[in-house]
Amino acid sequence: MGKLDNKIALVTGAGRGIGREIALTLAREGADVVLNARNLPNLDQVAAEIAKLGRRGLPVAADISRKPEVESLVNSAIETFGRIDILVCNAGITRFAPFLEMTEEDWDLVVDVDMKGTFLCGQAVARHMVPRKYGKIINISSTSGLGARNETMANYAASKAGVNNLSRVMALALGPHGINVNVVAPGVIRSEMGLTRRTPEEYEAYMALYRRQTALRRVGEVQDIANAVLFLASDESSFITGQVMVCDGGLKDGLLR
Ligand code: NAD
Repeated sequence: MGKLDNKIALVTGAGRGIGREIALTLAREGADVVLNARNLPNLDQVAAEIAKLGRRGLPVAADISRKPEVESLVNSAIETFGRIDILVCNAGITRFAPFLEMTEEDWDLVVDVDMKGTFLCGQAVARHMVPRKYGKIINISSTSGLGARNETMANYAASKAGVNNLSRVMALALGPHGINVNVVAPGVIRSEMGLTRRTPEEYEAYMALYRRQTALRRVGEVQDIANAVLFLASDESSFITGQVMVCDGGLKDGLLR
């Protein structure tokens, strides 16, 4: 018996990295999973892996920063499975630039995907959860949302801090309807995202730096985050809501707060 037998989950940003591992972990525990990202090819591969686990994966391409696309994503999930029990709002992007050089476009892009996308998905899915009086919503933020670590992340740090407090408000609004809303805030996790602006050598140096800065002397793996999400998606966490679970290996405090 799995912890999520016959549950229906929707995972955004499920094409690679943390989201892919979350989708596979939920499927291993018995869930069917609606898989979202902007493009289909990666999602089709994840769906094939989920099929091998004996569960169903439904790939749906949609940009979570656009309301009509979020609505059609949620409608596809409901048409296929009839309900959504678990939402994991994981999709996120970065556009780093020093504060004085950050463009309005850099700002809007990151805020629209990371913060507004979380709002749009949470609202659209919760509207289907409320009548059923059941739901688990897990939003993925970041330790960058807990304080200021470096000056190139104004858009990202503000968005992720916004996700944390948006989630607390969602917990207040949705708790009376039997819906838990929590956040997982990852520290430094080995994934494709970190490679987008570094050479492989720079990336390894960055990983080595953070390895030394954690109490556990390692960076995180995508499975570490998927395990935290699994706990919050299962009924083992049924009395927990409005919380930010920091999952960073005990990162020593380089944060201004
Ligand atoms: P990633 O870049 O490897 O994957 C992100 C996924 O989101 C991709 O599948 C991408 O297609 C999808 N995506 C991007 N924009 C989208 C949009 N507009 N609509 C739908 N899907 C979209 O990133 P990751 O490292 O797996 O990170 C996943 C989440 O974890 C993000 O929210 C990120 O901010 C957060 N996080 C990551 C780290 C880390 O060290 N990797 C640390 C802290 C927080």
